[in-house]
Amino acid sequence: MSASRPLSGEPGTDDTPVQATGEQIYDVLIIGAGPAGTSTAIYTVRAGLSTLVVDKGAASGALALTTKIASYPGVPETVTGAELLRRMRDQAAGFGAQFVQDRVLSVELDSDPKVLWTTEGLYRGRTVVIATGSMGRTQTVPGEERLVGRGVSYCATCDGAFCKDEEVAVVGNTPEALEEALLLTRWASRVHLLPPADTFRAPTALVTEVLEHSKIEAHPPVRVLEVLGEQAVSGVRVAPRGDSERTLAVTGVFIYTQGNRPITDFLKGQLALSESGCIEVDESRQTSVPGVFAVGDVLCTHLRQAVIAAADGAIAGMAIERHLSRRERLRPDWS
Ligand SMILES: Cc1cc2nc3c(=O)[nH]c(=O)nc-3n(C[C@H](O)[C@H](O)[C@H](O)COP(=O)(O)OP(=O)(O)OC[C@H]3O[C@@H](n4cnc5c(N)ncnc54)[C@H](O)[C@@H]3O)c2cc1C
Repeated sequence: MSASRPLSGEPGTDDTPVQATGEQIYDVLIIGAGPAGTSTAIYTVRAGLSTLVVDKGAASGALALTTKIASYPGVPETVTGAELLRRMRDQAAGFGAQFVQDRVLSVELDSDPKVLWTTEGLYRGRTVVIATGSMGRTQTVPGEERLVGRGVSYCATCDGAFCKDEEVAVVGNTPEALEEALLLTRWASRVHLLPPADTFRAPTALVTEVLEHSKIEAHPPVRVLEVLGEQAVSGVRVAPRGDSERTLAVTGVFIYTQGNRPITDFLKGQLALSESGCIEVDESRQTSVPGVFAVGDVLCTHLRQAVIAAADGAIAGMAIERHLSRRERLRPDWS
């Protein structure tokens, strides 16, 4: 089996290519190098635990896609998500965490050591951390995928402030869509609400508040045909039911037709998931399987933010150290 490629931009990993042969048993295997996985790695390597972070692509997580972050504590200037991630990964690699670019296809979580099966081979570890995020959605509108993080967003809390005095569109008819439309009125000059059906699937009081808001224009049911723009969103092309196509000149399109989809397909039923597919954990971020932890957006968290993902990593990192040292005390001959 071949040596896996280092995750681009990681210092130190070129010298010591990680072998996907399963020969080395790591203390900690982390799937996902977003803020959750990287923060976990900072805590586990600093606790003296050998740590490998496996990520399918440096630019594929939620933070990596984000063009502007202004809400991360200690980083007052507006940075791109990619830059913030690079700093986090450099910090973890500087302490000794290893990073490798590889996609996890399946896992064996009940075995000892636990195994990750990947495109390149396999990795074995005493503990596993799942930090794969919730970008498992499929982009359905033409232009949506190209413009994610460039005006297409799924989070008004994250990106609303970048739409100050601009016109934006909100696509959806769920409580989340309506709440987000209301939130956007704090910044946007006008919010076009584009429901896919002629009824709102939300409490009456919330619907009334939205429909009566002076900054919100609720359109009749529309099909969203395309998000327009090259480097940034410049408009959205819609087909109102029973009317001819038109283009709305907006700089932001907030889409709430699917919700987030946690990336858990590779688990193949080995962990307890909620009905919506997110991973259930205890206070220490341990899952239903001892020694398997989960952090960040893949959890059933209400608020998906980089700082919360990083905090999860701190909690799990410290719990892993306790978990492994307790096991070592119980099994002194354990190697
Ligand atoms: C458009 C947008 C704007 C945002 N703006 C902000 C903001 O301004 N402020 C803020 O705090 N938060 C913001 N967020 C939210 C923030 O980005 C997320 O909460 C955070 O990135 C979650 O971190 P995570 O590590 O859990 O997941 P992610 O950042 O999604 O990272 C998951 C990692 O797992 C890897 N992965 C997935 N599956 C596999 C697999 N099978 N094998 C190997 N690797 C795998 C991915 O490649 C990825 O690198 C924004 C999100 C979006 C989408």
